[in-house]
Amino acid sequence: MLAGVFEKTGSVALQEKEMPTLKSDLDVKIKVLAASICGTDVHILSDPPGHPATTGIIQGHEYMGEVVEIGKNVKSVNIGDRVIVDPTTTCGSCYFCEIGKPNMCEHSSALGIFLDGGWTSYSVVPSKNVFKISKEVAPEIAVLAEPLSCVIHGSERVNVQPGDSVVIVGGGSNGAVVYTGIKSCGCSKNHLC
Ligand SMILES: [Zn+2]
Ligand SMILES: [Zn+2]
Repeated sequence: MLAGVFEKTGSVALQEKEMPTLKSDLDVKIKVLAASICGTDVHILSDPPGHPATTGIIQGHEYMGEVVEIGKNVKSVNIGDRVIVDPTTTCGSCYFCEIGKPNMCEHSSALGIFLDGGWTSYSVVPSKNVFKISKEVAPEIAVLAEPLSCVIHGSERVNVQPGDSVVIVGGGSNGAVVYTGIKSCGCSKNHLC
């Protein structure tokens, strides 16, 4: 299969890669239906790099697809399910994972940054990193679930209330998603510049 590979500093290349296989009974294989380009991808590909990444990996950490194979212990999804991907992998057994803060996992990694990701046709992902989504949500919309989840978390932390004034610093794609998220919290007068 063809894949967008982080070849070397400043360079992504289309390369032929082997079809990935399940590495554990809890893995799933998905057929990628959509993958987006994040600002982090641009930083990874800058020279000098603005974000670390592993040379040789398939880039793309914002992606979604259809489950085509599941490990024998996978219960959360089935073949044929449409899923979104959480690209942050966690160990599940360190102190932070055990207290319910996997975002601080001592052994976390990231699909599409340090491990193979979604700029390709098929991807193997731990089943705990995929979440079922309705087939009525178009792939090009569903692929924004990862940045949207960051926005929802940030909006909850800021605790915006109706009538509050909010400044969003940075008007890129994530800024636009933040704008949508903040608006849904009740900010009614909006100026996007
Ligand atoms: Zn990203
Ligand atoms: Zn952990």
